[in-house]
Amino acid sequence: MGRGGAHGAGGPARAARLLDLPPQGAGVSAGALGPQPGDHGGAHAPAAAAGKRRRLPGDCAADPGRDGEPARKRPGAWRQAGRSRAAAEGSPSGAAEPRGLEQNGQRPDGGSAAAERRGKRPSAEPGAPGPVSGGAARRLSRRQRRNKQKNQRRQENELQAGPGGERGAGGRAAAGPDTLGPPGLAAAPLERSAALRARMEERLLAARFRYINQQLYTSTSREAAQLFQSDPEAFEIYHRGFAQQVGRWPENPVHRIVRYLRRRPTSLVVADFGCGDCKIATSVKNKVHSFDLVPLSPLVTVCDMAKVPLADESVDVAVFCLALMGTNLQEILEEANRVLKQGGTLMVAEVASRFEDIRAFVNAMAQLGFKSVSKDLSNAFFHLLEFAKAGPPRRRPATGLRLRPCLYKRR
Ligand code: SAH
Repeated sequence: MGRGGAHGAGGPARAARLLDLPPQGAGVSAGALGPQPGDHGGAHAPAAAAGKRRRLPGDCAADPGRDGEPARKRPGAWRQAGRSRAAAEGSPSGAAEPRGLEQNGQRPDGGSAAAERRGKRPSAEPGAPGPVSGGAARRLSRRQRRNKQKNQRRQENELQAGPGGERGAGGRAAAGPDTLGPPGLAAAPLERSAALRARMEERLLAARFRYINQQLYTSTSREAAQLFQSDPEAFEIYHRGFAQQVGRWPENPVHRIVRYLRRRPTSLVVADFGCGDCKIATSVKNKVHSFDLVPLSPLVTVCDMAKVPLADESVDVAVFCLALMGTNLQEILEEANRVLKQGGTLMVAEVASRFEDIRAFVNAMAQLGFKSVSKDLSNAFFHLLEFAKAGPPRRRPATGLRLRPCLYKRR
């Protein structure tokens, strides 16, 4: 999704750079479907059966690292923390020793508190008089000194870039000491401050994506429609982020649905609820009604999926591919029931970790008039459920119709 020319200024490469986000949305093999502690809270049945819960690349809010990497793989993370601490502690260099980490005997630079202790006088050994304080305790290894110097240089460069890192036309700083020095010397700091700026931009966009995503999963479909109407840029940001997330999965569920439709008669009429960039409509020969809140493609009919402009019992296949987002799930699925012909197919592809209790969900679907035909829980990122319309919905709350919001953690 989001893939496609409608992404406007900057294009996909820029979008990819700016929205490097964690793939916390999805996917699991049957054994790893469960939520994680602090994730959606609660245990996923297959995971529970397996006796343990793997961290999955696609789990919603499962991955605390930034940009799809676990935090421990982020060499910059400790530095950031160290710098903030340094600032808070008034360190002029910004090269604070990572004291918090020292407590665990760990050093971000790969060293350890133990290594530091090795450099201490015997008096610091167990049984000797108490720990050496002040300067002696802070004796730094050669590696730590190098890191400290590096941090100092970095901070100086950031200062040279000026507030906001303003730049002149040629990518050089508009003003500042580095413009006065020899060009060779100025280039490296400038590059570094440009990189810093890009990183900040990236984080801002990632934060916006997380916010919009959260809005979509925690509000009704009507509120989501209002959000995108009042802020079309929000839609663009959301779709860039979405595309990036799903692009990291080994398989995109929309391709599974396309393959499924290609095996069925082309005469079947399809309704794609929350169609995004209309991948389905552009991939099959069937007549496809594509519904979304904002048109990423001219094929989109703009509407709230809880109220689509289709006659009763007019479609053969209704699809929700990663699109069951609003909190008014029942209303949305009742709408799908309304437009589906008796015996028609409902396909639901949804992020695996969103399901609290798959059996309860399937039972709730039965109350809404959908009989389970098949469940494919084999993908680590998403579940693919097929239902057939058995009749009209029972007009009362379908208990068990719960999906966790697919939220992303800040990385
Ligand atoms: N099905 C597509 C897109 C999934 S992203 C795919 O798999 O590639 C979810 C899509 O649902 C987004 O495009 C979002 O705009 C849309 N959506 C969310 N709430 C909606 C609503 N209430 N009505 C219509 N579309 C909605």
